[in-house]
This record gives sequence, C-alpha cells and structure tokens, in this order.
Amino acid sequence: LDIKLFMLRITSCMRQFQLNRENANKSKALFELATKDSLTGVYNRNYFIDIYGKKVSESFRTGNPFSLILIDIDHFKSINDQYGHLKGDYVLKEIAVLLKSNLRESDIICRWGGEEFIILCANTDLENAIIVSEKLRLGIESHAFKDIKKITGSIGVTQWKLGDDKDSAFKRIDNSLYLAKLTGRNKVVSNEEIQIVKN
Ligand code: GH3
Ligand code: MG
Ligand code: MG
Repeated sequence: LDIKLFMLRITSCMRQFQLNRENANKSKALFELATKDSLTGVYNRNYFIDIYGKKVSESFRTGNPFSLILIDIDHFKSINDQYGHLKGDYVLKEIAVLLKSNLRESDIICRWGGEEFIILCANTDLENAIIVSEKLRLGIESHAFKDIKKITGSIGVTQWKLGDDKDSAFKRIDNSLYLAKLTGRNKVVSNEEIQIVKN
C-alpha cells in the first residue's frame, strides 16, 4: 500500500512539474507575442515606449546617460518596387539580425515603423552613441544582401538629457534623421552638434 501511495505522489509531483513548465512556456510565448515584432523578432513600438519610460525614470535617479538611435533604410520603396515585397521583408529581417549582432545585450532594438528601427543604448553618452551609429551605418552599407547590390541607412542619434520630456529626445532624432536624408542619406547626424560624421 505504501509503495502505491508513494508512486501516486511521485506521479502527481511529476504532473505538477510538467504543468508548471507548460505554464512558463505559455507565459513566455504570450510575452513574446505582446512585445515583439512578428516579422523581425525585435521589440515592437509599444514595448519600446514602455522601456523608454522606465529608462527615463532610472536616469533621473542614477544620473546615468542613455542614447537613442533612429535608423531609416534609404529608398526602401524602390527595393520593394524593384525586387518585390518578399525580398523587402527579407531585407528587414536581415537588418534586424545585423543590428543585433552589432549591439550589446543591454541595448533595446525595436522596429519603430515599416523600415525604421530605433535603439536605446543603455549607459551610453552621445560620443559613444555616435561611434555605435557609425558602426551600424557601415555594417548595413557593407552587408552582402542576397541578390541586392547595396542597401544603406540614414541615422539620427541623440543623448537623453536632464530637462528632456518624453517627446523632446524623439523630436531631436527625428530632426537629425531628416537632416541626414536631406544631405544625401547613408550618414549619421546628431542634432546636438548638427554633426555630420560621413561627408
Ligand atoms: P527614404 O530614403 O526617404 O527613407 O525613402 P523610402 O523609400 O525608404 O521611404 P518611404 O517612406 O517612401 O517608403 C517606405 C517603404 O517601406 C514603403 C513601404 O511599402 C515599405 N514598407 C513598410 N513596411 C514594410 C514591410 O513590412 N515589408 C516591406 N517589404 N516593405 C515595407
Ligand atoms: Mg521611413
Ligand atoms: Mg526609408
């Protein structure tokens, strides 16, 4: 009888363990679904805004800098037109992988919109964020995309500063990106110094 009871307990424990694991997997899948972009697997806009708010509070507390990098693929419409929408999707996925491989674990990468990515670089001041941006720009320019000659991206970069409200830093990277497009694309522009890194 004791052995039977013992076996019953073991079975029940194993079942409980299995249920816990299933629940953990389900929670993970739900989290992925709610926070990630389905095409590229990087974070989605909602999650990014959430994290951004948290980083702002943290910076108020600790005084640690952080920076934002906004990347927009150049002439992406013509890539779709020339090679088809599926190839365009492939380029977006490939760029997401490329960005991830050039960034640190603590950086948050998000698909901001169609062919735009935004990155939050934790504990990074402007000087270093410009270096990272230039590395990303070069990475895109020199990457061998299957069947496509060359893809480039324009980049706006800024450091979050005390006195910024939630929108002001976004406004700066938007302006910087606009300037990068206006002055020839495939370049990094930081609004703080209106600094044009590449020509
Ligand atoms: P610019 O250099 O000024 O940024 O030009 P652009 O052509 O990249 O910019 P525009 O805003 O005119 O076009 C963006 C294109 O991105 C248009 C849209 O069809 C395409 N796009 C947006 N989302 C996706 C997507 O998920 N997959 C594909 N294949 N294309 C997308
Ligand atoms: Mg765009
Ligand atoms: Mg574009």
